[in-house]
Amino acid sequence: MATKAQVKIDYELSFTEPQAHYVDVQMNIAGLSKPYVDVKMPVWAPGSYLVREFSKNVEGFTAKAGNKQLKAEKVKKNTWRIYNGTEKSVRINYSVYAFEVSVRTAFIDASHAFLSPTGIFMYPDNQLALGSTVKVIPYKGWSKVSTALEPVAGKQFTYTAKDFDILFDSPIEVGNQDVFEFMAAGVKHEVAMYGGGKYDPARLKADMAKVVDQATAIYGENPNQRYTFIVHNFARGGGGLEHLNSTVLGASRDGYATEEGYKDFLSLVAHEYHHLWNVKRLRPVALGPFDYENENYTTNLWIAEGFTAYYENKFMLRAGFESPDEFAGKLLFAVSGVINTPGAKVQSAAEASFDAWIKYYRPNENSNNTSVSYYNKGEVVGLLLDLEISHATKGTKSLDDVMKAMYLQCKSTRKGYTDAEFKTMAEKISGISLSDFWSKYVNGVHPIEYAKYFGYAGIKVEDGNAGKNIPYLGIALRGPEGHMSITAVSRNSAAWVDGLNVGDEVFSIGAELVIDKLPELQDKKVGDVVTVKIKRDFIEQEIKVTLKANPNVSLVPSMEASISADQRQVLKKWMGI
Ligand SMILES: [Zn+2]
Repeated sequence: MATKAQVKIDYELSFTEPQAHYVDVQMNIAGLSKPYVDVKMPVWAPGSYLVREFSKNVEGFTAKAGNKQLKAEKVKKNTWRIYNGTEKSVRINYSVYAFEVSVRTAFIDASHAFLSPTGIFMYPDNQLALGSTVKVIPYKGWSKVSTALEPVAGKQFTYTAKDFDILFDSPIEVGNQDVFEFMAAGVKHEVAMYGGGKYDPARLKADMAKVVDQATAIYGENPNQRYTFIVHNFARGGGGLEHLNSTVLGASRDGYATEEGYKDFLSLVAHEYHHLWNVKRLRPVALGPFDYENENYTTNLWIAEGFTAYYENKFMLRAGFESPDEFAGKLLFAVSGVINTPGAKVQSAAEASFDAWIKYYRPNENSNNTSVSYYNKGEVVGLLLDLEISHATKGTKSLDDVMKAMYLQCKSTRKGYTDAEFKTMAEKISGISLSDFWSKYVNGVHPIEYAKYFGYAGIKVEDGNAGKNIPYLGIALRGPEGHMSITAVSRNSAAWVDGLNVGDEVFSIGAELVIDKLPELQDKKVGDVVTVKIKRDFIEQEIKVTLKANPNVSLVPSMEASISADQRQVLKKWMGI
């Protein structure tokens, strides 16, 4: 009897038509013991919570045993059944069309191939524990392969993955990318730069090493021996996707040349690098082992993504790239972002996480009214929890201690955490009950008590808009000059109440013509009625709107005149000052 352990899988990737955006995949399966085998393409890429239906890009699927053509048929959107009969080995060939530029989708052209593995490799049904070998045959003129996959000694461009979780977590860059390396925290880091750019490798090496050191310092250990950064430099690029021992970053070619652009890049590095702990190892229980065919639901993306966004700022501060003032400014920007999002009064952080698949990743014109980003809300929850813990422990503990303890717990149990386990650990470290905190900020939509929390560290935060009664319409406009249309209507605003709609083309508001931006309504006051001339479905209309007050906050920080010893301890723990 053949057993699963005897099944062997290898892939060969080649490029006959890269200019037309295709990769040719050959998959060999040996050691089969049943008369048919189902092979499947994942439907999503872990880290990006949307069903992307990667099998839509597959074509020319054939299966052979030696020279014998085998019957193969599609039995599901992402599943092919191969009738191998008594044949023990099959050779499968298919092509994948790859023309979507993003960190989580494959892209191939004449200059390079970025292979996002869940959109390239199929797996035999129920056999995710199997290891595999991958051989890459670069297109003529391409000379480099960059990946975190383990190289096979003595075989060029050949790699192994001990199971499919590793294979699917290891993107591959093929082409003529510039590669440099640096050591940090005892780990060899490789940076593969595609697309050129105005970066200084020596400066990047030094600064990226500082980020690595800051992240490693929290957890006390770095779990990798080798780590790969794949960086795609475009005219305007962005975004990142985390993996177990690599990451893919989008960047702007010219961005490195400005101080702001350079810091943005380091922030992205800090964010994605922190993920090698937070979400890849210190992970919600639902996120691994993955179900590659269905949505994987978790209520904890506010920790996995939101806390990572919060720590991005902490690392920038601790590495000396940003000042305490800049740090506080970024956090207040995040707090205002939540407060000024009407949807934050509707959807909790836990709900935002659970519904990532159908809301965050599938936004529409009403998203701002009905949902909150788990990045934004989670960043704020991380900030509040950090200050709550430091306040409760008189500056002796912080969220860092919770993150480290949870990482070690996940490592020893080899399981992800539940929401209850995370809360229990935070309570253990802070020494206080966090039930009220969780019901307000994790599972509820309680207003953010920014004055109280910043006050713990001796920082006074006030709303610069308070009492100003600024007249406000509540719409966003976009479009060509002279033909601007409404793209969003804010819940409970004047426009919402009086019936301006998304899609309305706006000609004038009161006496002011709308040419290329929203008039500022400076000569108006709250309660004034303005006539808005619009065209809806080709019919001109006049809509009377009664202006309401702008509900948005504009938060301004200042140090309190005198700071107590307790506040001083929290501030020291938090910002190091
Ligand atoms: Zn992230």
